Amino acid sequence: MEEKKLYINGEWLDGSGSEVIQVLNPANGEVVGTVPAAGKKEVIQAIEAASEAFDAWAALPARRRATYLRRWYELMGEHKESIAQILTLEQGKPLAEARGEVAAAGRFLEWYAEEAVRVTGEIIPPSSENKRIMVLRQPVGVVAAITPWNFPASMITRKIAPALAAGCPVILKPASQTPLTAAAIVELAHEAGIPKGVVNLVTGSATLIGKALMEDGRVRKITFTGSTEVGKMLMRQSADTMKRVSLELGGHAPYLVFDDADLEQAVAGVIQAKIRNAGQMCVAVNRFFVQEGIYDAFVSRVRTELKKINTGNGLDESVTMGPLINQKAYQKVVDHVTDARELGAGLLYGGNGRHESDHPEAGYFYEPTLLTNVTDEMKIMREETFGPVLPLRRFETEEEALRLANDSRYGLAAYVYTQSLSRGIRVSEKLQYGVVGLNDGGPATVQAPFGGFKESGIGREGGHHGMDPFLEIKYISIGI
Ligand code: ADP
Repeated sequence: MEEKKLYINGEWLDGSGSEVIQVLNPANGEVVGTVPAAGKKEVIQAIEAASEAFDAWAALPARRRATYLRRWYELMGEHKESIAQILTLEQGKPLAEARGEVAAAGRFLEWYAEEAVRVTGEIIPPSSENKRIMVLRQPVGVVAAITPWNFPASMITRKIAPALAAGCPVILKPASQTPLTAAAIVELAHEAGIPKGVVNLVTGSATLIGKALMEDGRVRKITFTGSTEVGKMLMRQSADTMKRVSLELGGHAPYLVFDDADLEQAVAGVIQAKIRNAGQMCVAVNRFFVQEGIYDAFVSRVRTELKKINTGNGLDESVTMGPLINQKAYQKVVDHVTDARELGAGLLYGGNGRHESDHPEAGYFYEPTLLTNVTDEMKIMREETFGPVLPLRRFETEEEALRLANDSRYGLAAYVYTQSLSRGIRVSEKLQYGVVGLNDGGPATVQAPFGGFKESGIGREGGHHGMDPFLEIKYISIGI
């Protein structure tokens, strides 16, 4: 049982209310820990602490900030196993995936330790002899980071590491389903000696904390990963104080398999891009479009692979797919499958869920499910399912595939399988998506600029591009 606290101004505190949030193991409903519910008072305290820490943190030589991040990275490596255990306990994903995520979370700290020292300005040629123009890139100020439960470790460092590298203090509000991983990571920031006020952790009601952060003008930037609905609301709320926004929102990824694809590669990609995290990923495939000539072979091979998946408690090393996060998530998957079936979809594999706990909120498993003959009017072809359901549709021509793929209000990730170089490039260029996996089911990585087109969000995270959202550009026009 983990009993974590708020972390404000370098100290571990209880909330002012008597309330605590219980954290459940989504596999069986056991209470695995608690965190305090912060009141407005603590949120304001965190904003004050971050504001006070800003000048000194921003003024530190970048190499010093980098050294703190590097130390934090090393500590993540040393505590990799214990964090992975906590992550699986509260999130449910198989331990192997949790270990992979913690390693990825560490890589963001490592990358931005390296990037911190490469924030440079420019000297621009002036239009008269007695002027000089100097361009600076300066930290934007106090950052609020709101993170989701599906990747409770890597979504935190993907935001905090570049913010800190740029010189910005952070107030982190993790998802209430997975605050223990967040606290464990913040404990390591403390151990790394990061100065007080530079990293703050507030847990509790998303509405209360979100509102307090959003209405405060001292918070200069919001970086959020979560649903499109909440992202839009945060963007609206940002308008009043003109906060800078980075939003990494929902997706509805298409997966195009052309006749000339490498079948093995295309099948392997399905597991990575759909089954990982039980399909609870913004980059998860939501629509499979498969060309006529390869359709039967692809479907039969995918089905064979799905049969090998072992669903259960992620702590059991033999399990390859964990539970869904809660009852609501499960209900959505059931609803999408029922709707598709009622509207004429065929069921080729799966189609069943089970509830394995006395707890009404936990113990929900859904088996990998293959649906055929799906059509546009089905919810599953429009809304993010966030579960292990694969809707399949045939196509004939490249133009048709592109039209179907781009017919979405989302634009995060898309996948293309073809052995033709020219087709691969042609199709990738035309896809209205921020991330394209060309013969690659796992394109997300620390050094690449991850983010969406359309309603999938604004801004990029990762790589050197991931620094920009935390930097303001200023020019100084100098008369000499
Ligand atoms: P999901 O539906 O996948 O849980 P959400 O967008 O609801 O995604 O949650 C993502 C993050 O946003 C979580 O940390 C959650 O607590 C937070 N959140 C949810 N509602 C609000 C809100 N009204 N204001 C600020 N943050 C919110």
